[in-house]
Amino acid sequence: MTAQPGPAGTGSERVRSVVGAATATILERDMGIETVADLIGHYPRRYAQRGQLTDLGQLAIGEHVTVLARVASAKVHPMKQRKGSRLDVVVTDGQRSLSLVFFATVGYHRKELQVGRQGLFSGKVTLFGGTRQLAHPAYELLPDDVDGDLADPHADPLAASFTARPIPIYPATASLASWRVAKCVAAALPRIPDLPDPVPAEVAAQRGLVPRAVALERIHVPRDWADVESARARLRFEEAFVLQAALAMRRAEARSTPTAPRPGRAGGLLDAFDARLPFALTEGQRQVSAEVAADLGADLPMQRLLQGEVGSGKTVVALRAMLAVVDSGGQAALLAPTEVLAQQHHRAILALLGPLAERGLLGGSEEGTGVALLTGSMSTGQRRQALLDLASGTAGLVVGTHALLEDKVDFFDLGLVVVDEQHRFGVEQRDALRAKGRTPPHLLVMTATPIPRTVAMTVFGDLEVSTLTELPAGRTPIATHVVPALDKPHYVERAWQRVREEVARGRQAYVVCPRIGGGEPDDELEPVEEDEPASARRPAAAVLEVAPTLAEGPLAGLRVGLLHGRMAPEAKDAAMRDFAAGAIDVLVATTVIEVGVDVANATVMVVLDADRFGVSQLHQLRGRVGRGGHAGLALLVTEAPDASPARGRLAAVEATLDGFVLARLDLEQRREGDVLGHSQSGRRSSLRLLSVLRDEVVIADAREEAFALVAADPTLAAHPALAAELAEALGEERAEYLGKA
Ligand code: ADP
Ligand code: MG
Repeated sequence: MTAQPGPAGTGSERVRSVVGAATATILERDMGIETVADLIGHYPRRYAQRGQLTDLGQLAIGEHVTVLARVASAKVHPMKQRKGSRLDVVVTDGQRSLSLVFFATVGYHRKELQVGRQGLFSGKVTLFGGTRQLAHPAYELLPDDVDGDLADPHADPLAASFTARPIPIYPATASLASWRVAKCVAAALPRIPDLPDPVPAEVAAQRGLVPRAVALERIHVPRDWADVESARARLRFEEAFVLQAALAMRRAEARSTPTAPRPGRAGGLLDAFDARLPFALTEGQRQVSAEVAADLGADLPMQRLLQGEVGSGKTVVALRAMLAVVDSGGQAALLAPTEVLAQQHHRAILALLGPLAERGLLGGSEEGTGVALLTGSMSTGQRRQALLDLASGTAGLVVGTHALLEDKVDFFDLGLVVVDEQHRFGVEQRDALRAKGRTPPHLLVMTATPIPRTVAMTVFGDLEVSTLTELPAGRTPIATHVVPALDKPHYVERAWQRVREEVARGRQAYVVCPRIGGGEPDDELEPVEEDEPASARRPAAAVLEVAPTLAEGPLAGLRVGLLHGRMAPEAKDAAMRDFAAGAIDVLVATTVIEVGVDVANATVMVVLDADRFGVSQLHQLRGRVGRGGHAGLALLVTEAPDASPARGRLAAVEATLDGFVLARLDLEQRREGDVLGHSQSGRRSSLRLLSVLRDEVVIADAREEAFALVAADPTLAAHPALAAELAEALGEERAEYLGKA
């Protein structure tokens, strides 16, 4: 990840060239700031302003903070147990106060911290005797002689504007306070003109954005709030522009080599499949299928994202594309994120194809094809057979997990890769499968739930988007109810009674728990936004505890099964099969059932400690019930208090079945890094000012400009600064990938 020091005059010199060696070490070690450009790119997190003191009521215990406050009192106390004295200072925001305590150089601090002075105070917040405290904070006092000017409306306007300057607050650490970071940055600012500007000057000018050098100067030393705004606007656009240019280049690269068109053929496998499909395609399915077919028939590899509402029937659309490719003499691979899902897809495809899934075998059809399964848990013999079928072309279709990506896997003629529930696959993994084609395979990526437009543009920005919004006709909408376990315990009893009723009618149920239990770490549990410290909560419901409790108590007499991520693959598959076959009434599971599990006879789902899940995740979970024409019911059991944010989230899931609305809400709840995924969050070149939540317009504008630029100048020959920026970003991405492997 480390960039080599480059030639002087590009900002790639080491920070040592502008700050002292000791400080440089701290910047490098604690903040990952290695070059002058890194330092200039370390933007203030926020700004303070004289007179606008930090709200001290908001400080979280345990956090490193920088606050602007006024000294309210300062007292020296002799120490009882040992020699010396202690200085107790109270600072205030005008309403609330914060204690500062000093045990050393007390006399010096006493003289500095005069009552009434304003300053920045920085340290870790601790709780001492019930009050919030900073022990031995670092501080920087504001010049004090201008206070009078501020209060006086007739004061010299220049002095007033000086004092009204926003004070930058930098992301800082215990070893380097914000104002010391500011000093380091100040030392680097004269190098700003050296830094290349990736945004063409015409583009910036057209959008009324200030030049980069001006923006960088202003973000670090704004004269006023208008400076901050103009700087941010410019730098935000730049982030979006560089990201979109990278996506445009990726897309152009993926489409740079012509490929074999796979138009299908009349009277082939696809036609036979359509003829035996037990339902009519929805209007949306027909439309998206047409878009996909047009892509497949062209001689450039398809790069398409298929997103859709839970249960909208994405699988059928994908399977039709796969069959068209087989009809064109090629093979198609479906890549699933988990073993359970791969097995289920395999079973579902076999069921949908019927006799079409066996070629040349007795009872098989003329135009059929083999459907292989390849997962990590298969026996050596099964595996060898599958590899053979793929290499020889006997299997036209294959469903698999990451095992499909391995080197040993060879295809006869891979024409299409379908990636299901893409968020768990990286771009590199997509590329690994693509590399297995004789000609570049077409690519279709499917997401589990709808995603907000900005996320589609950033995370999947190299793909064209098809969307399925409608559900097949005849579905009864899922009813969702929040079950408050604390205020209304009898509601929980009622929930179990509903499960019994459904089972009595021949239906089946899921019970979802956040944890596996059994004392081992739960890698399956995805942490969601916490409203209170985790330590204050009891552990969430666990499959291994809930299943026996239910079987002996409220669900006694029913056949209760288990499914979780620590089970052996065969056991998981057996559990899913038993449930699908109706040999289990109630499946107690973790979120392994979240993605795509499809048992039409399941009509009720009880989610325990539902507040521990994100809203999109709950939406995806409840999509598992009511798929077979029977009414579906989702019961979200929670102990979260009535007016809590967690209850608000659950109420939103209860109130709407629109996955787009919930995806948007989810985005508001989560941090950007989670949204963009690991590869885009941990890098120095990652998004600093841009927000996928707030900046939809900026992202769309930048996308238009960047794609136009790459279309006009595909090698970026006329845009060396942008090319250099992208080369560095891509280099880091690649280095990170290699580091992972
Ligand atoms: P998702 O989009 O969530 O992946 P699936 O592809 O799993 O949804 O489809 C959900 C269910 O709906 C499956 O059982 C599938 O066979 C069925 N289905 C798909 N398309 C239709 C349709 N046009 N009419 C009726 N049922 C359909
Ligand atoms: Mg699916």
